[in-house]
Amino acid sequence: MSRKHRFTKIIFTIGPATESEETLAELIKNGVDVCRINMAHADHAWTRKVIQRVRKVSQGMKREIAIMMDVKGPEIRTGDVTETIELEIGEYFDFTIDKGIGGRGPDGVQRVDVNYPGLANTLKEGDTVLVDNGLVRMLVEDVTPERVRCKVLIPGPMGNRRHINLPGVRVDLPALTEKDKRDVQVGIAEGVDFYALSFVREPADLDEFHDYLDDHGSSAKIIAKIEDQQAITNLDGIIAASDGLMVARGDLGIECPFEDLPIIQRRAVETCIQNGKPVIIATHMLESMINSPLPTRAEVTDVSNAIREQADCVMLSGETTVGKYPIACVETINRIADRMEAEPFPTLRKDLVLKKPKSKMLRSAAYLASELDNAGIVIFTRSGFLAQMLSSLRPTKVPLYAFTDNRALFRQMVLLWGVEPFFMEFHDEEPEQTVQNAFDFLKNCGWAKAGDHMVVVSNVIAKEKIIDTIQLRQLS
Ligand code: PEP
Repeated sequence: MSRKHRFTKIIFTIGPATESEETLAELIKNGVDVCRINMAHADHAWTRKVIQRVRKVSQGMKREIAIMMDVKGPEIRTGDVTETIELEIGEYFDFTIDKGIGGRGPDGVQRVDVNYPGLANTLKEGDTVLVDNGLVRMLVEDVTPERVRCKVLIPGPMGNRRHINLPGVRVDLPALTEKDKRDVQVGIAEGVDFYALSFVREPADLDEFHDYLDDHGSSAKIIAKIEDQQAITNLDGIIAASDGLMVARGDLGIECPFEDLPIIQRRAVETCIQNGKPVIIATHMLESMINSPLPTRAEVTDVSNAIREQADCVMLSGETTVGKYPIACVETINRIADRMEAEPFPTLRKDLVLKKPKSKMLRSAAYLASELDNAGIVIFTRSGFLAQMLSSLRPTKVPLYAFTDNRALFRQMVLLWGVEPFFMEFHDEEPEQTVQNAFDFLKNCGWAKAGDHMVVVSNVIAKEKIIDTIQLRQLS
């Protein structure tokens, strides 16, 4: 193949470091696949502006990337404080519930509001409260309807609107908050391709979001972010109810013992592959590159591990929102992926349980392509099933070229391991014309050249019936 094909996909989070047209063009040139917008930090005017900009730049470069809006979900945050409170070890601290009060209570204990009305009903003596991604640790000492009193175990600063984690506690907040709905309305108006839903706890959270999108005429896909212990307990159901999974290791590493993280990651990747759902590994992939042009050895190993596990995507967060070296981060992932994907891997996932005859046919197509030098697989799909199924089979070293005439699906397929999607009109009456157009496309865009073999999964008309075929073709 002339053009370099990467099997593992790259998601970058857009922010001040990457929002300019020039930097976006450079990122797309380096092969990013999805742009994530983190609604925890984005206002609506900026969101609209960057979505339109990403579309314009990527269409201009003839390599359309997808857009993923990451909504906050049921996140607990503290309110404002007049000035940062420096907490000390052993001191008492009160969390009040939407009272709009701060400072000190009548008994002299410092306090701050939280946005979660159910806090006092949810917590009990002995529970843990973590502030600011676990930088500050507190132990619940006493609960009244008005306040939750904690003792500071690990001290630190308490600034404005700090993120709160309550490990092992079932939070009684709606899966999709009113703020999320307002954000999603912007996403729907701008036609985003994916939503990532934070703090998914059970399959019903996803059903509710799917219903909301259906009611508002959106065909966007939903990625479930698993971030706490309840999500791990319900992992299989969550994967079944979602369109994909994000292993959100930032919060997960706070809510669960961090030594469990590698085991959770491996189980999540495996279960997703077995169930034909894409999986994203997120957070701290190249954290040190926020300030350094080179990764640490540990980060290189972490990224390679995600690639070896055959996750669909790796994701960059702070590295590309505020980092000094966003392009170098993408180049780093490219280098690691090139090296890892060249390693000897089993040809295909033989362990996948395939029920449908068509799935078995796809496995045969993948076998055939893997037996040939320099061969790819060409598929034509309107529902995405063929692309998803072939991607789950993980045919190493065999690029999957997926053609569709469905524009929404076109960008959604970019998330799938090994799949390079193309938008193209089909000739339903003349399948051979569609195949020839696809070959021209591949050659003109540099993905393939004359003499290359393609295994084509396509319909042909035989005695007025449409039948599925696997064809071995050579490009002329
Ligand atoms: C995470 O916690 O790892 C994550 C991706 O979520 P966010 O960055 O939205 O907090």
